[in-house]
Amino acid sequence: MKVLVPVKRVLDYNVKARVKADQSGVDLSNVKMSMNPFDEISVEEAVRLKEAGTATEAVVVSIGPAKAQETIRTALAVGMDRGIHVQTDEDLEPLAIAKILKAIAEEEGAQLVITGKQAIDNDYGATGSMLAALLDWPQGTFANTVETSGDSITVKREVDGGLQTVKLTLPAVVTTDLRLNEPRYARLPDIMKAKKKQIDAKTPADYGVDTAPRLTTVKVTEPAGRSAGIKVESVEALVGKLKTEGVI
Ligand code: AMP
Repeated sequence: MKVLVPVKRVLDYNVKARVKADQSGVDLSNVKMSMNPFDEISVEEAVRLKEAGTATEAVVVSIGPAKAQETIRTALAVGMDRGIHVQTDEDLEPLAIAKILKAIAEEEGAQLVITGKQAIDNDYGATGSMLAALLDWPQGTFANTVETSGDSITVKREVDGGLQTVKLTLPAVVTTDLRLNEPRYARLPDIMKAKKKQIDAKTPADYGVDTAPRLTTVKVTEPAGRSAGIKVESVEALVGKLKTEGVI
């Protein structure tokens, strides 16, 4: 079984996002960028499938600027076999990304695509579902546990207050949730070895898909600051405030 893992280079999750003065988006100049955390989980899962002998090849793909190659190298260093870099400086929407991924999944003959449940920069949470729909493949979302057996895959999904188990016939798309696994760190020798692994250089035009934007970002704003609190004299006063105002 060949596994395809799309990974996105995003603002590092430890960095506080700064909105640009003109409110057109988040300022990405001179900030640390890393692999989207949910994609690290997808990579780890694919590498485990390889180690278990279930996956024959694990291919990582990233669509983005030249520096997205670094993100691919990170995935190669933890055990992915090969990379595909689709270079673009445009910030493509999930539909365009999903169309490119569909073309790659078909070209590669992938049996399983593992995406993150969302990219933490734009929070669309849309690409995996769009990809499953375009491919007409079943999808296991919010994956907490994944088990393959023959031509099927069983996914335990994180739902409100519990887990739901679904069985999908391969080929399928799985989108990863936070508790699926704990991603490993790359070891130095593996980082060195990863430099020799193959990365194919492509462009969106190679896949002949229409990447024209369908939506316009009108405005991006910072979360509203918290208003100052007040001191109450007693527990009774606190309970009274909670009853009448809901908040203090
Ligand atoms: P989103 O729908 O943008 O929240 O992204 C969900 C998932 O789609 C991510 O966790 C990635 O697995 C994949 N994805 C989104 N954008 C890209 C990209 N530019 N390159 C590769 N994979 C991507």
